[in-house]
Amino acid sequence: MRLVARVTFVDTPLPDFVNWPTFPFSGELRVRPLDAPSLPEPPRDGEDIAGCRACQAPDDAYIWVDDRWRVRATEQPPGLPLVLLLEPRMHLDLGDLPNLEAAELGLLTVRIERAMRSVDGVARVHVNRWGDGAAHLHLWFLARPAGALQLRGSFLSMWDDILPPVSTRTWRDNLSFVAAYLADQGGRSMLES
Ligand SMILES: [Zn+2]
Repeated sequence: MRLVARVTFVDTPLPDFVNWPTFPFSGELRVRPLDAPSLPEPPRDGEDIAGCRACQAPDDAYIWVDDRWRVRATEQPPGLPLVLLLEPRMHLDLGDLPNLEAAELGLLTVRIERAMRSVDGVARVHVNRWGDGAAHLHLWFLARPAGALQLRGSFLSMWDDILPPVSTRTWRDNLSFVAAYLADQGGRSMLES
């Protein structure tokens, strides 16, 4: 008889981070059982350029653009003061960027972080790239409100979905500020009246 290894996660101990003050949830928690690997993996959104929403979006769906890059906001006011995404115009993923775009990605990451950190009430900006959802490269920039120590660190993106949305007026003011800040050193704000 052949023995097949089986792993059960029912009794997997919870990780230490569930006790961190930044962890957004309380109460009884259990680790989900891990699914069997799904191979080959299904395509991501926009894997085929003809169905890529980023490639088909017009410039006026963005808050700032230049010849090779565009910055967009979330569709609705987020829970955080600002959540922005940086995308290349070309349909590429991170590891596919040519040297010029790779170098510009570093410069723009710094510039966007600096712009968002200059918004009133923003203490810190976290930069994330996941890439399991959409194939077209998109970097996330999440602004943490000043003084909100409970939102520090890696759970910030969860808190963004948990917190009530910021007011539309505050959100638009923040977007206009960042778009103008970026345009000051090149490209153009799409929010200019
Ligand atoms: Zn694309």
